Amino acid sequence: MTEQRSVAIWRDGAAVAVPADEPVLTAADHGLVRGDGAFESVAVLDGRTPHLAAHLARLARSAALLEIPPPGDDVWHALVDAVLVRWRAETEGVLRLFLTRGPGDEAPPTALALLAPVPAETVRQRTAGISVVSLSLGIPADFRAQAPWLLGGAKTLSYAVNMAAYRHAHRLGADDVVLTSLEGELLEGPTSTVVWAAGGTLHTPPTETGILPGTTVARLFERAEADGWPTARSHGTVDDLHAADAVWLMSGVRGAAPVHTLDGVRRADAGLTARVRGLLAR
Ligand code: PLP
Repeated sequence: MTEQRSVAIWRDGAAVAVPADEPVLTAADHGLVRGDGAFESVAVLDGRTPHLAAHLARLARSAALLEIPPPGDDVWHALVDAVLVRWRAETEGVLRLFLTRGPGDEAPPTALALLAPVPAETVRQRTAGISVVSLSLGIPADFRAQAPWLLGGAKTLSYAVNMAAYRHAHRLGADDVVLTSLEGELLEGPTSTVVWAAGGTLHTPPTETGILPGTTVARLFERAEADGWPTARSHGTVDDLHAADAVWLMSGVRGAAPVHTLDGVRRADAGLTARVRGLLAR
């Protein structure tokens, strides 16, 4: 059987496939009530998840930062298998893995998987590029490193602010956002990592700023270095992006989306996107 969406939940020690329109959480689940949990968005290509290991490693780190007992990779693999078995390989998918604190009262955390087609708009942005506005997050760039309660570096379910930043950008006529610190230092996109090419080097902000460590940028930087393209974790500003040879917002599902407009100003792309795409596709 094939479906447009595929869902599985961990129940009584097994991955259970659930009809996509059937409720899977109780109203008391802390993921629902407080956004208290973590998630991952994993690319599904040709019916496979080539980058799953990096996402599971980050999910385990997020769980540790949130102090939620991690269910372990076997549970996630069983859930992934349960949703993939009903998936058409030719449909590019986004697999979301959710871990919540559960409904409380000694109940175990909730672990579930949801597989859906990649939205057409995501595919369009990957090829056509994006316009981006810079918006301040209003916290100093060095603050989250010494403030564990802010959960810097964790991919938590509390994405309401990230989604509000998108809606604000859309009202301004842009596709996406580059978030900056109180002092104007580059941080990340609401669901992506900022990467820019300048002086023959690929740059991305350091994770000490509390941004999410991106799995896509990690893969790109490893392959770029092997290919003779130097990489650096650099403190940058929006002016650095205006002056750069190319700028991308990167994530596992959308890939490298080239930024063609920044705060209303068209910017050049020195033809480097093909090389970046080639490195990511290897
Ligand atoms: N930063 C944030 C806030 C994100 O939500 C994401 C993607 O989920 C990324 C960066 C990019 O991470 P990845 O390349 O692992 O998809």
